[in-house]
Amino acid sequence: MTQSERKSGLFVVPGDRLGVIEEFTSGPGTYVEGGTIHSKVTGCTLLDMLNKQVSVYPLVKAATVPHVGSIVTGLVLDVKSKNAVLRIFQIGDKMLSGFFKGMLHISGVSHGYVDNMFNVCKSGDIMRAKVISTENRSFFLSTADKDLGVIYALCSLCGHVLQPGNRGMGCSKCGNFERRKLSPDYGKDTTHKGEQIES
Ligand SMILES: [Zn+2]
Repeated sequence: MTQSERKSGLFVVPGDRLGVIEEFTSGPGTYVEGGTIHSKVTGCTLLDMLNKQVSVYPLVKAATVPHVGSIVTGLVLDVKSKNAVLRIFQIGDKMLSGFFKGMLHISGVSHGYVDNMFNVCKSGDIMRAKVISTENRSFFLSTADKDLGVIYALCSLCGHVLQPGNRGMGCSKCGNFERRKLSPDYGKDTTHKGEQIES
């Protein structure tokens, strides 16, 4: 924060810099690293100028944490033969300020048999999924319902957007074909491309 930004009521996310230990003491919701005070939570800054203490009041609304049954949208971070890890950035139609990691196991992909996760999604894809378990704050996902699956995918050879066709997902640029577990909404949703998923 710069000098002029040092005030209460600022929205911060975990890791945001709040000040240095020469100026303030570290209050609830903050931590110190290398002499700098950072926010530990998503919330609002509380600056006690009298006691020179900075704290963060956590803002956690029910709608910002996935629950069992929540429909979430996420970026595929990593794919192995039996599971994929997603960075959940949206719950329903609400974009999240932080993010959660979700796990899609191969048994949750479809009601039918799926042999290999690499035929379901690839890293960099955007997927819509349903939360089926939140035990130990781990979010386990399913794409078995008919409206769930990949909604945006890029060619793994050249990075061009893939288009569904008779032979699978085709790349009009390099002619590559790939497989995905598609949502019927594939390609219709244009709100998740570019910078919004990077935040
Ligand atoms: Zn291509």
